[in-house]
Amino acid sequence: TTKIHSVIERLGISPINPSWSTGKNDDINVSSKKITSVSPVDMQDIASVGVISDDDFEKVIRTAKAAYTIWRDIPAPQRGQVLRDFGDTLRKHKKDLGTLVSYEMGKSLQEGYGEVQEMIDICDFAVGLSRQLYGLTIHSERPNHRMYEQWHPLGIVGIISAFNFPVAVWSWNAALALVCGNVCLWKPSEKTPISAVVCQKLLSSVLQNHELPDGISNLIHGGAEIGSKMTNDSRIALISATGSTKMGKAVATAVAARLGKTILELGGNNAMIITADADLDTALPAAVFGAVGTAGQRCTSTRRLIIHEDVYEEFKKKLVGAYKQINIGNPLDENNHMGPLIDKDAIQSYLNTIEAIKTEGGSFLVEGKVFKPTELGSDTYVQPCIAEVDPSFDIIKTETFAPILYIMKYKTLDEAIQIQNNVPQGLSSSIMTLNLREAEVFLSHKGSDCGIANVNIGTSGAEIGGAFGGEKETGGGRESGTESWKAYMRRQTNTINYSKEIPLAQGIKFDL
Ligand code: NAD
Repeated sequence: TTKIHSVIERLGISPINPSWSTGKNDDINVSSKKITSVSPVDMQDIASVGVISDDDFEKVIRTAKAAYTIWRDIPAPQRGQVLRDFGDTLRKHKKDLGTLVSYEMGKSLQEGYGEVQEMIDICDFAVGLSRQLYGLTIHSERPNHRMYEQWHPLGIVGIISAFNFPVAVWSWNAALALVCGNVCLWKPSEKTPISAVVCQKLLSSVLQNHELPDGISNLIHGGAEIGSKMTNDSRIALISATGSTKMGKAVATAVAARLGKTILELGGNNAMIITADADLDTALPAAVFGAVGTAGQRCTSTRRLIIHEDVYEEFKKKLVGAYKQINIGNPLDENNHMGPLIDKDAIQSYLNTIEAIKTEGGSFLVEGKVFKPTELGSDTYVQPCIAEVDPSFDIIKTETFAPILYIMKYKTLDEAIQIQNNVPQGLSSSIMTLNLREAEVFLSHKGSDCGIANVNIGTSGAEIGGAFGGEKETGGGRESGTESWKAYMRRQTNTINYSKEIPLAQGIKFDL
């Protein structure tokens, strides 16, 4: 507690934080409706935020629109400088912010630091990108004409984020959106608003050092109702939403109704195929970290192991042995591998899923249970469990955001791939094999149908250099690396005639 209190003090968190924030603590109304962030680690209140009022929402949009006219005029490489400074600020505060993320969300301290590292990495990426927002030049079919395409910013980018990556997901979006010349409006998860308050303060201090106006980065608070207000507002050109598939369907419908743009990063149901040619010693830590890391609350958590019958029994034994060594407890204690689930609702869905597995006829190699470490006073800690299931079970087709691992047997690779693809989600996947043919089939068009397909590493822990996202009910969006930036810009095709004629395309004649 002393440690976390000094972190909170150093980060300058107030007991009550404003409902919207430019990062300074002035000129802000604190609405009567409040959200209090409670740490799942020990059930202590961290601080509160106000839910944005309708009037304040209008003020934020006005401020953001005004800021956009200034920000879009700044050359992209100069915008990159701002992101460079933000990355440096994050380097300075990595330990404190990482600790707060761990305390507010419940992930291990190492994972909290890792999340801030991801923010630093995306800032570096954005700096490079600021000189690489390339368009193509195209040969015109008309003589003495030049064609090219260029990319312009969209305006206000709305970011709706999930609780499990309270800061990294925002930074993937914000770093790219900003470098592309947009301004951002962020509504973090109502379960982790305080980490967001800190991010906003840090970025605002950088913007102020560059003598930039308020409104380039905006933070507002509230739950689904505020998210829905954003999605229905046509002044927000793009909504980038990360969360459950249920939320994604609501967002997609609302934004489509106004023909706006979306980036959707939704639920996963990720599988690892362990073939008879796998190196089981590497498969084991990859599977265990994938299943229990962040207490199974990553969109890329490994939820299903599809194991070849020849190595099934051997791997099962190794897995059960490894699960016995997992330390569960205070995530701020670096000896623990796994912290709590986010809240009581998460515990309930963990318990409901365990019941559903039993009802369908599954059996447990490691039984699940809820427990309450006496020294912490929180009852949101659970035992990660392993269930043996049949691929035909319904329950394994839904994502339960908890450390429940399903294991099942297969005979042929075609069958394994069919099992792996036979779920509505399509985020991450992996195959563990030393057999080149198996690996290549898995990566081919008839292999994994996911946005991420790995060989000999697990399903979680993506790097920011690659585009991140998934297919089917995962929503189809891509964030971070390669060409993801294009989703934050609008494309314009330009044709310039430097002749004295006015030839028409397709050889059409129109003589006057
Ligand atoms: P959630 O869907 O409950 O909430 C996510 C965000 O959406 C929150 O900010 C919430 O307030 C908002 N929201 C909820 N309903 C809304 C609506 N109708 N309109 C607008 N906004 C709405 O998700 P969660 O429990 O915070 O996060 C867990 C989920 O997120 C999991 O399904 C996980 O797989 C997914 N996730 C996906 C990715 C990815 O990149 N694919 C990354 C992280 C988490």
